Amino acid sequence: MIDLHTHTFFSDGALSPSELVYTAKVKGYSAIAVTDHIDHSNMEFVIPNIIKVAKILTQEYDILVLAGAELTYIPPKLIDSAAKECRKLGAKIIVVHGQTTAETVPPETNLYAVKADIDILAHPGHLSNEEAKIAADRDIKIEITMRKYHNAANDLVAASALNAGAKLILNTDSHNGDNLMTKEIIKETLLRAGLKEEYFTTMQKNSMEVINKRR
Ligand SMILES: [Zn+2]
Ligand SMILES: [Zn+2]
Repeated sequence: MIDLHTHTFFSDGALSPSELVYTAKVKGYSAIAVTDHIDHSNMEFVIPNIIKVAKILTQEYDILVLAGAELTYIPPKLIDSAAKECRKLGAKIIVVHGQTTAETVPPETNLYAVKADIDILAHPGHLSNEEAKIAADRDIKIEITMRKYHNAANDLVAASALNAGAKLILNTDSHNGDNLMTKEIIKETLLRAGLKEEYFTTMQKNSMEVINKRR
């Protein structure tokens, strides 16, 4: 299993990167991205530390660990420059905290995100046709989330993305070990998003595309 959106105690997750990654390995993961919440206050601190531990864990635990970042509540016009700064710091997988229906994320976050140098728009809530089309054209993956509350709009997100030809990926947005993927939660999430269980294979291929582009 591949999961490209998780958190550790470098932001609001409960676990250290080592504990999260080892737990994921035990649960059958082959690859995981650690994408802690980032803004201009902490990117220079968090990203190098995640890169350091990701290298060690990849070598020692036989699981591919990618250092990433989730750009969170960044003023929308600055999303692209912030993403580029994160890449310069060495982040591989760049996620944007989209306009989930569970929070008041700054307006136009989705729109600026799909125009920016990012990989994944997470939990975008009411993804517009325009946003979905830009994501499709720029090969930015749209996330179907397993995270409680953010998952309420998964069916709308899936319909809008697929209608525009954008590719979907499935992530947990884990904040602790219990949030990691299991077959049961995958099945339930896909069904509630209006997707067939078999579609998981396509989504994992899409995740692999992101990895191959960035590793
Ligand atoms: Zn988020
Ligand atoms: Zn997240």
